Amino acid sequence: MIRIIIVIGLVLLFSSAAKAFDTKGVWQQGGVIQGRVTQGTQVQFLKHDVRVDKDGLFVIGLGRDAEPEAIITTINAAGEKIKHTFAVAQREYRIQKVNGVPKKTVNPSKEQVARSRKEGALVWHARQLDSERKDFSAQFQWPLIGPVTGVYGSQRFYNGTPGRPHFGVDVAAPTGTLVVAPVSGVVTLVHNDMFFSGGTLIVDHGHGLSSTFIHLSKILVEKGQALKVGDPIAEVGASGRATGPHLDWRMNWFEQRVDPQLLVGAMPKKIEK
Ligand SMILES: [Zn+2]
Repeated sequence: MIRIIIVIGLVLLFSSAAKAFDTKGVWQQGGVIQGRVTQGTQVQFLKHDVRVDKDGLFVIGLGRDAEPEAIITTINAAGEKIKHTFAVAQREYRIQKVNGVPKKTVNPSKEQVARSRKEGALVWHARQLDSERKDFSAQFQWPLIGPVTGVYGSQRFYNGTPGRPHFGVDVAAPTGTLVVAPVSGVVTLVHNDMFFSGGTLIVDHGHGLSSTFIHLSKILVEKGQALKVGDPIAEVGASGRATGPHLDWRMNWFEQRVDPQLLVGAMPKKIEK
């Protein structure tokens, strides 16, 4: 009898060791993956010691150009290190070639470069926050309903030179249209006029996941303010280097750019009144 129990025990032990932990999310470039490990397990991904909450919940983000295989390393309470390999679906991004662009629109001045670097550092810093919040585990909603005019990952080549890929999802709307919080969070950055991004707002959703809203005409919240899903946060604009009024919503897991559309789902067809 005891021998049978030991055998069953060993089988259970090995099957749980062999089985990768549970994950939820879209395993493709730009995806956000939630996972659950047993309590006391450490998780590592890329260069990050990933925050694991008391229930074993963690989140990671897959960048635009994430490799076909992602490796998550777990270290259990006994110090045993296991590498878990996951397939990451590779995407084909929208590529556009633009020729005959005048030189000055391609290269900003020295002063503009210096200014945008300073502002970029503020944005980078805000995105490094690793808070205990768990807003990311709730259902996201669109911060603005309207036509999607730009998508994650797309890239333009100007006179043959690759531009920075577009990391946000663009929603067109007239200047002054209200933008709401797509999920709960805390405001970590408010800047009314950045060189490239104009009115810029960053909201922390916990564990390194954040939203950035840019080209805003007006920001209605303050740094440190707690937000609930649906709270008004800003107004659409065309500030910074924008060709027309629209909301550009970006999401990050620390330095990794993730695709908001994979979290929020399809844009509703009609504006509900
Ligand atoms: Zn955009």
